[in-house]
Amino acid sequence: MSSSPANGTRVRRLPAGALSAALGLLGLLSVLCFHFPEWLTTPEVRAAIDLPLLRKLLLGGLLAAIASGVAALFLRAERRAGLIGLAAAALAFALGGHTVPETQAVPLRTFYIGLDYFVLSLFFTALAFVTLERLFPKRADQPVMRAEAGLDLRYFALNHLGVSLILLTVNGAAAMAGDVRLTGGLLPDPAVMPIWLQFLMIVLVADLTQYWQHRVFHRVPFLWRFHAVHHSVRRMDWLAGSRLHFLEVLFQRALVVVPIHLLGFAREAIDIYVIFAGIITVFIHANIGVDFGWLRYVIATPSFHHWHHAASPEAHDRNFAVHLPVLDLLFGTFHLPGRRWPDAYGLDGKPLAQGLIAQHLQPFRRAPDGAP
Ligand SMILES: [Zn+2]
Ligand SMILES: [Zn+2]
Repeated sequence: MSSSPANGTRVRRLPAGALSAALGLLGLLSVLCFHFPEWLTTPEVRAAIDLPLLRKLLLGGLLAAIASGVAALFLRAERRAGLIGLAAAALAFALGGHTVPETQAVPLRTFYIGLDYFVLSLFFTALAFVTLERLFPKRADQPVMRAEAGLDLRYFALNHLGVSLILLTVNGAAAMAGDVRLTGGLLPDPAVMPIWLQFLMIVLVADLTQYWQHRVFHRVPFLWRFHAVHHSVRRMDWLAGSRLHFLEVLFQRALVVVPIHLLGFAREAIDIYVIFAGIITVFIHANIGVDFGWLRYVIATPSFHHWHHAASPEAHDRNFAVHLPVLDLLFGTFHLPGRRWPDAYGLDGKPLAQGLIAQHLQPFRRAPDGAP
């Protein structure tokens, strides 16, 4: 672990071991997806994917895992992670690597684990945001594998895999809701409007819902116990936003998805929104120090949401919006003091229980300290 105080003097080095472990394990999971597509992959992803390209990517990833694993051993840095990466890549090759034959006519199962969706989103999100955080860092001395990055990675896995498991239920409920349109002819049918306009309307409807859900979770002590998990993050980066109690994720998704479907938006507009929401959630937590100028008032940015996570009381119960800061301006909870950034994040020196399971059980035990 190469965490260091924020003195800016540490030389940034390539986390070869962590890179090897990440690529090796992702490669191994991908090979398992090739072997057991009906249990591990998602029909939507299977339909959309370019298989020959994916095989090349898999081969490249496994070779890079081996190269960085060897580099970690020689550089004597993160050797344990390097060994994990080498072992995972070797096992992946032993199981057929990028040459596993394609399963013809994959049977459709009612239940499956969306491991492919998890592997792809983790790979591309990490690639894009680790690059951006290295190019435009807010805190340049913060390493990629900062303290508690492993915990947040487990949250990422739990919330991705868990959500894909319940996706079927939500889709089923949404399909039924499709016939019960809330507007009932009183308002024009949004599905006939241009996709870009529907998208903007969904952003507004979703964020209005999220704003008040979020505010209520801060206000009601019992609900705060769940949301405190998200606020226990002490280092902000692309992975930090993954730390959410699973029950809050379920509640939040259901609350946002239901009105969007009831209002009758087109599937295409909803799909674009889902991609947008996934990206902006990662973005607002990222360790990116770019000054977005007036755009900071239009769309949620890292500085806007970093203040929501600030440890200092001046920022408690501020910046609840996830997409549109104008909602905080409207409802009197906006906080963006000039060009300043918070000094520290978290529950004001009162951390939660350690570990994924302990943090999931904590809301049922007692109210955490540091409630706003
Ligand atoms: Zn919050
Ligand atoms: Zn957050």
